Amino acid sequence: MKITDFSRLCIHTMTTKPWSLEEAIAGYHHAGIPGITVWRHHIEPFGPSEAAKLLHDSGLKVVSLCRGGFFPATSAAAREKARDDNRRIIDEAAMIGAPLVVLVCGAVPGLPLSDARQHILDGIAAVLPHAAASGIKLSIEPLHPMYADDRSAVNTLEQANNMVSALKSPWLGVTVDVYHCWWDPMLKSEIERAGDTILSFHVSDWRTPTRDILNDRGMMGEGCIDIRSIRRWVEHAGFRGFIEVEIFSNQFWQWEQDKLLERIKQAYLTSV
Ligand code: ZN
Repeated sequence: MKITDFSRLCIHTMTTKPWSLEEAIAGYHHAGIPGITVWRHHIEPFGPSEAAKLLHDSGLKVVSLCRGGFFPATSAAAREKARDDNRRIIDEAAMIGAPLVVLVCGAVPGLPLSDARQHILDGIAAVLPHAAASGIKLSIEPLHPMYADDRSAVNTLEQANNMVSALKSPWLGVTVDVYHCWWDPMLKSEIERAGDTILSFHVSDWRTPTRDILNDRGMMGEGCIDIRSIRRWVEHAGFRGFIEVEIFSNQFWQWEQDKLLERIKQAYLTSV
């Protein structure tokens, strides 16, 4: 790889949260960053057709749409509504040219995790036909167990791989996010097992101490995650896609976002 090769660099719009979608497109373009993963929060103010037009005209590669999921619920009606929401999100992905919807699978405080996991499996099974018919892949992103109460009952790559094995669809795979998976003693072997079902790869770093469990992710190289080894493992498994920088950070959101992009490019070269 050439020292200044940014051809696989992608930024999540949540990384530059203060920017509107329009500003993010202009900023990434200006910084020479070719990939964008779009969060639905950034589509909402424009609506999907206007967002689609902005993205199409931008020349940026839309890597994925974040996020679908949140399947578990305490009533059957609410679970059905979640499935409808996911079908709509799949339609939105098709409109904006995203080949992939990343699933934050969901959890409900008080609902047994075993029930939540069954709701997730059943929910994905229910929406997969719509994803396949729309030509959109779904990717299960395991979340760090600190989010098992209200964000995701899928907390290890092993669980995600088991769901992919159970559902046997070419339209379903997994996302490896170093922030969520770095601690897992089974990570290397589960990455090998996932092989070509790895659909996306997210990077950031783990700060010590972590000051906020949602919005204190570190810049790559700033924390304790061995990002390079994990990258090597996913590439050894066959992954050749974009490397997506997904940093939720109260600290970095206060920066001038152009400066943040330059910092990310530097960290990408030295620490990813
Ligand atoms: Zn992620």
